[in-house]
Amino acid sequence: MVDDKLRTPGAVRDAERWTAHNYHPLPVVISSAEGAWLTDVDGRRYLDCLAGYSALNFGHRHPQLIAAAHAQLDRLTLTSRAFIHDQFADFCRELAELCGKDLVLPMNTGAEAVETGIKVARKWGYQVKGVAAGQANIVVAEGNFHGRTTTIVSFSTDEDARADFGPYTPGFTVVPYGDLDALTAAINENTVAVLLEPIQGEQGVVVPPEGYLPGVRQVCTERNVLFIADEIQSGLGRTGATFACDHEGVVPDMYLLGKALGGGIVPVSAVAANADVLGVLKPGQHGSTFGGNPLACAVAIEVVRLLATGEFQRRSAELGERLRAGLEGLLGKGLVGVRVRGLWAGLDIDPALMSGREACERLAARGVLAKDTHGSTIRLAPPLVITEEEIDLAVAQLAEVLAG
Ligand SMILES: *Cc1c(COP(=O)(O)O)cnc(C)c1O
Repeated sequence: MVDDKLRTPGAVRDAERWTAHNYHPLPVVISSAEGAWLTDVDGRRYLDCLAGYSALNFGHRHPQLIAAAHAQLDRLTLTSRAFIHDQFADFCRELAELCGKDLVLPMNTGAEAVETGIKVARKWGYQVKGVAAGQANIVVAEGNFHGRTTTIVSFSTDEDARADFGPYTPGFTVVPYGDLDALTAAINENTVAVLLEPIQGEQGVVVPPEGYLPGVRQVCTERNVLFIADEIQSGLGRTGATFACDHEGVVPDMYLLGKALGGGIVPVSAVAANADVLGVLKPGQHGSTFGGNPLACAVAIEVVRLLATGEFQRRSAELGERLRAGLEGLLGKGLVGVRVRGLWAGLDIDPALMSGREACERLAARGVLAKDTHGSTIRLAPPLVITEEEIDLAVAQLAEVLAG
């Protein structure tokens, strides 16, 4: 059970009383934060090793992002896309340049970016590739996580995410992740896209075998299929590069971005692609009331500028090696698997010792917040502003937890 020190029982009870139980949060009630640190309602401090599932790559309340938000709040917050506002062009141009693509389509949540990618790929399939009406198919991977809409859960292989939410959207073929032969065999004349996470985050930071992503790129090019990379969690500095695809020199046809794009302040997502792909959309065919709103754009412009310096990618790569060394030192001492890419780690705890949930509860009692993914697997994704000393602290506390 949860350590006695880790209780704000009244506040926890209140928070659970009036909500649907679609989450199982750790019993901490946070009231403020800065950088990599959170403070709860009783004044206890916690090192954040989840960073809002990578929505907080730049830490809590990064001064440059907060300043941009404040300034924009005082000028203009929403226009809808019925009118153009003065933050829009800069956001789209700077993000397109970061991605090396012609065009950007802004949305809000990650799931909306995925939905946008699916719609664009289907329309491209019919209008450009010449797929027969109603036959478009998208190849996806086992163990995927792309969001929670009815269409997206239709091709989830996680029963919790999928069961009893049918009837399911057709048009998806699921193949094992990391198996290029299976993916190649699944492609036919109706295939419009391959949709993959370059690293599967929710699955436990699963890195595909070397050569897989370049292989996917090659087969997509050869078979006239769009390669859609869901970089919503893996992108924007998390893995020690701007995009996880960069590690293998792969450029997808479409980037799906979200999470960190909003700087931990507002939900911002986007699809980036070239004009021959995104150009298939015409007025009235897709949109969002809040997508690309002035506040979102003002914050996201600064996010893109932070990334354009390369500083966060560098930090992630360098500090990630320290994290790797620390975690690999725990192999055989409670850990049975460690996967690290930049400041992103999937840890498999010996299931005989404890569940991932129990490990996270014990870590929380020691002032480190992380989240289990499945079973005895937990994920560490600290803000990229974390220091060497803080990484050592997190590893030391994990070692204590595993030692019982
Ligand atoms: C979080 C996530 C999504 C969904 O994003 P939401 O903002 O929660 O809708 C999609 N794909 C990946 C890879 C994610 O990690």
